Amino acid sequence: MSSWKKISEAKLLELSQEQNCFETAVREWEYAGKVTDHLSAVELCQLCDHPNLRYHFEILNRHTKVTLQVGSSCIKKFDIAVYNSDGKELHGESKSRQLEEEISAKHRAMMLEQLRELWRRASWERDRIKKCVEEYKRRDGFSPGDLRFLFELMNRYEVIYTASVYKVLLRSKQDRNELFQLSAEDLELIWPTLSPAQKRRVGEEQEKVVKVDPVAISSQAAAIILPEMPIRYVERSHKYRITFYDEEDRPFKRIFRGGDKQTLQDLAEREIQRIPDCRTVEIHFTQTKELVGIFKSIDQRIENERQ
Ligand SMILES: [Zn+2]
Repeated sequence: MSSWKKISEAKLLELSQEQNCFETAVREWEYAGKVTDHLSAVELCQLCDHPNLRYHFEILNRHTKVTLQVGSSCIKKFDIAVYNSDGKELHGESKSRQLEEEISAKHRAMMLEQLRELWRRASWERDRIKKCVEEYKRRDGFSPGDLRFLFELMNRYEVIYTASVYKVLLRSKQDRNELFQLSAEDLELIWPTLSPAQKRRVGEEQEKVVKVDPVAISSQAAAIILPEMPIRYVERSHKYRITFYDEEDRPFKRIFRGGDKQTLQDLAEREIQRIPDCRTVEIHFTQTKELVGIFKSIDQRIENERQ
């Protein structure tokens, strides 16, 4: 008998009513319907001492009322009962699926709690938050633009959130377009929500478009190929089109943003200082193309005064 099995069996017997027969003792235990997400793999299984667990499942002895925090593999390896919502005991594949579903349900509960906190704090944005949640319920996931909006708001209102428990949708072309229109900074914000398969796929598509990435090439070349972004839908997150010009007045970068005017003004001024070649930033309404504001670098302002 392997040592982990010996440890587990001794421990389980000790905490059960039945003191001699392990097979009888183990039937006194069941999954208690509570899972804890420790967010990283730092915990020990209280039954077999296995380290590096992210999730703890609580098991309960129905006679002694003792509870233990264990890994899902112990529940599967030993004959610890797991029931479905109708009270039917599950075995094999359906038992594993149920334990996975417990994790999903836990993540959903964590997510909704964080969104409720955001709703409480960000009273001016409640309509949009509600809409995002309704869309989530309808589609069983968020669009990249909605997630970007929510995370940005969480940061602004200092709501602590766990990005990895949110689910992003990238199946439809519209969702993928939305993702590719995010700035590098915004993409970084929602990146932890992508599954490994989604990350691989985005990586492959990015490699294909890297040749026309305006940030990666010289501004002169970018000016020639910089396309009008194919906005077929106008969302609040794409309300403004922000274009960056170099010293020759050539556009070399374009992003889309929602938010208020003050935030955009701050962004424009920050970017002018950050990007050495940037001389002018123009902000337009995406839908009407109306000019909202022009921001110039200090160099540009000095030149204008000389003229
Ligand atoms: Zn274990």
